[in-house]
Amino acid sequence: MKKACIVSIGNELLNGRTVDTNAHWLSTQLLELGIPTEEIWVVGDDIDHIVSCFKQASEVGDIILVSGGLGPTDDDLTRQALAKFLGVELEFKQDLYDGLKAFFESRKVVMASINSVQAYIPKGTKVIANPVGTAPGMHATFNGKDLFSVPGVPVEMKSMYKDYIYPLLASQKTSPVVLTERILCYGAGESTIAQQLGNRMKRGRNPLINCTVCGGQITLHVVATADDFNHARSMIVQQKQELVSILGSLVYSTEDETLPEVVGKLLRQRKMNLVTAESCTGGLIGKLLTDAAGSSDYYLGGWITYSNESKIRDLGISKELLETHGAVSEPVARAMALGAQAKASADAAIGISGIAGPGGGTEQKPVGLVYIAVVSGRDVEVREFRFSPLAREMIRQRAALTALNMLRLKLGV
Ligand code: AMP
Ligand code: MG
Repeated sequence: MKKACIVSIGNELLNGRTVDTNAHWLSTQLLELGIPTEEIWVVGDDIDHIVSCFKQASEVGDIILVSGGLGPTDDDLTRQALAKFLGVELEFKQDLYDGLKAFFESRKVVMASINSVQAYIPKGTKVIANPVGTAPGMHATFNGKDLFSVPGVPVEMKSMYKDYIYPLLASQKTSPVVLTERILCYGAGESTIAQQLGNRMKRGRNPLINCTVCGGQITLHVVATADDFNHARSMIVQQKQELVSILGSLVYSTEDETLPEVVGKLLRQRKMNLVTAESCTGGLIGKLLTDAAGSSDYYLGGWITYSNESKIRDLGISKELLETHGAVSEPVARAMALGAQAKASADAAIGISGIAGPGGGTEQKPVGLVYIAVVSGRDVEVREFRFSPLAREMIRQRAALTALNMLRLKLGV
């Protein structure tokens, strides 16, 4: 089985200004191809350090994935380091230069002379085209190993991985094949889910089921090992079906969709539109919904009614209701959703009001108390939640996702 090493290059990764998300993304992608990552290196923009890193990485891995250090400025030194490591000169490539010129011309920008450095690559390496930016990538082969060097900008790195590196690695695949797919769940804790799965989560099992938690979302990773791709794939399909039948509506996606995407898909299927009235989440539900391209098909918009005045003025909530129950209450969340639905003549609505903290909590109404109202047609559901009072950001995130999950369940899974 081939093994990989990942090298992330850039001073910004060492001084904490940039988090190394590239290594995380690449190692996940490699695992889906059944290629384990043995080591991850983070190194600054220094030729000798980079060369020494390449040497050590190539002792451990058959595949070396490098990101960063391909910009046009003097501090980006990966192409020089790769030439030194391979013991070759940098070579000027006219077609790369022409491509750079065309890139800038298409944007009506004059190319800076320093960009021409990006037309040089170490002799004998192949060019990895960059469809998004200016820095081409490089593919070097030596001693039966492959080294791929791509820019650090995540969107460029990802598109070059998908267009060039992934197809190449997939075509080189040898047995055993290890495939991983995910089942995404919301609405129960990790231990509840583990209990429902019983001994299916036992170590050493094939397919293996691993569980991770993030912001209330539970991901079950189904890892199948088999002699060939088709066998591994059919093991995964079978295992996913069984897990879905056990977990039922806790599962919101078996296809890596986000919760807002799933809600959007359901609204679209049912030809329904949605409006939101948010208080403690400050527009986060709207943000999550509009992260999905094409969401204007079903999301009409919303109000951020953070103050009582705006709840009264924008949603028509009565002053008496607010005074009697307080803004964070079941009747007010209900009135927010119904008010928004009526104002926008929408099919569905979400109203949300809570105490995100850190201040503002009382014994009766502690930090983390959130009321969520979901309306679909004439059906109204309001629920009270008490999220962990640890962090404002977490309460807001959990509240927004929980509201979307309530709507998902109401629309019928
Ligand atoms: P570079 O290819 O070195 O010019 O990198 C360009 C930009 O990409 C940097 O300024 C960072 O903002 C970002 N970047 C570089 N390496 C990484 C990484 N490993 N993870 C996430 N972002 C990165
Ligand atoms: Mg850099």
